[in-house]
Amino acid sequence: MVDIISRSDWNARPPVSRQGTTWDARTEFIVHYSAGPTGQTPRQIQDHHMDGNGWADIGYNYLVDVEGNAYEGRGWLTVGAHAVGHNTSGIGVCFIGSDGDASDAAKTTIAALYNEANRLGGKTLTRRGHRDVNPTSCPGDDLHSWLHNGMPVD
Ligand SMILES: [Zn+2]
Repeated sequence: MVDIISRSDWNARPPVSRQGTTWDARTEFIVHYSAGPTGQTPRQIQDHHMDGNGWADIGYNYLVDVEGNAYEGRGWLTVGAHAVGHNTSGIGVCFIGSDGDASDAAKTTIAALYNEANRLGGKTLTRRGHRDVNPTSCPGDDLHSWLHNGMPVD
């Protein structure tokens, strides 16, 4: 189990709308970085996604900060806005920070979310970095390498 800071605990705004999906449809676990400072808050990211991008909510399903805290974004079974063509199949988890910032604590929490997703879904989700599915540098070289070569899996 991984402790997840709820939307109400990080003072999330309510979503404009939500589209649900199912564990049957979930096949991928997609890791991102915010490419900003590690001090950015989920609420700041949500404000940018809703007010700047015009999205219905924060784009990610979960977020992880440099301290290893996990934050609820859209949750396990709401379609996100994080990887074009992969938002229904993929659970999007964003590390808050830039390439090289991801601490051991952050990586431990990302791995815990991956293992929790597999447990809840009753399957092994394919691990992907955002760059594996869309043309982007996300989630940076360090997290991308770790995701494929270092992440401990239950
Ligand atoms: Zn990304």
